[in-house]
Amino acid sequence: MDNRTVAGPSAGYPPDLLSFSFGQLSELLESLGEPSYRAEQIYPRMQRGIPPGKMGNIPAKLVAELEERAPYRLPEIARKLVSSVDGTVKYLLRLADGNLIETVLMRYRHGNTVCVSTQVGCRMGCAFCASTLGGRIRNMTAGEILGEVIAAGNDSGERVDNIVMMGIGEPLDNYEASTAFIRLVSDPRGGLCVGQRHISLSTCGVVDGIDRLAAEKFQITLSVSLHAHDDAVRDAVMPVNRRWNISELLAACRRYALATGRRISFEYTLINGKNCGEKDAAALAELLNRALRRGPMSRYPIHVNLIPLNSVRERDLRAPDRAQVDAFRQTLEKHGVRATVRRTLGPDINASCGQLRRAAGAGDTAGAENEKEKT
Ligand code: SF4
Repeated sequence: MDNRTVAGPSAGYPPDLLSFSFGQLSELLESLGEPSYRAEQIYPRMQRGIPPGKMGNIPAKLVAELEERAPYRLPEIARKLVSSVDGTVKYLLRLADGNLIETVLMRYRHGNTVCVSTQVGCRMGCAFCASTLGGRIRNMTAGEILGEVIAAGNDSGERVDNIVMMGIGEPLDNYEASTAFIRLVSDPRGGLCVGQRHISLSTCGVVDGIDRLAAEKFQITLSVSLHAHDDAVRDAVMPVNRRWNISELLAACRRYALATGRRISFEYTLINGKNCGEKDAAALAELLNRALRRGPMSRYPIHVNLIPLNSVRERDLRAPDRAQVDAFRQTLEKHGVRATVRRTLGPDINASCGQLRRAAGAGDTAGAENEKEKT
């Protein structure tokens, strides 16, 4: 059995059952002398949040063996905030080892979207992000990421239509688990069956991860957090840029688009006084057009999501006003780049990434890693 994607949170921790693919579960059950139909009984229902012991038709001996070899663990809801403005629900979830992460359920006209975390903390060090303030504590397993979708779906009693991998952590810094999660949640034999075209993976610009991902030939949307059009500003707000600069990042985006035929969307957080003047917008449009729209990609549609900064209490950064945001968007459009301003969801529940977890006192753990130490 290929156990690379089912490693537990720490050495000696048994693999979690929710991380198992259909094939891996079949092999495990076969090794336990179970009939071949057993995987079909267990796999979709465990992905719907039903533990083997509650499935009703699983022998008690097998339930005990599974518990010993690969325990079934869903995260517990430690805290839940519901926005009275738009119904956004923000969950603080407790994993089996006590670590806390955040998951958000957003309600749009086109369905429910769950934003999942992929790591406990983050070591990428982006200046505008609360999730990185305590560094990275550990990677999450594929099953733990899946558990977020199950917890949000079951708590709301509603179907999860879309998934964005945009919560705490950098998905490509936890490559094996993130890609295993995409396979699990989109598996038509599973219990969630979210189509890959409804999954979006957000990266801060981990170039070797983008190249690996291109080879997977997933049908997901890649979303790249750019946030600046020149290396000096990007170096200051995103330490990952000192490892892979803007030109290396956009070259990887071009390779990704050519290999997969999929559109990439760019995220751009507008930070007052740093990156949101009209000159910045013109320079951004020129940069994207030059890097992406040439040769076979001359008609490539470029889309930028503009995100007015959600202030981080611990850092002295502020959002621009509405007029600045509108002027920025119009300048991009004038240069042929489509842009939308992201609606601030759950403004009354502090829905920005990592803030709830910090309020609960998590993320200050000694020994956590961060990118500044790494590079
Ligand atoms: S924005 Fe994403 S990659 Fe950057 S520090 Fe926050 S969680 Fe990590």
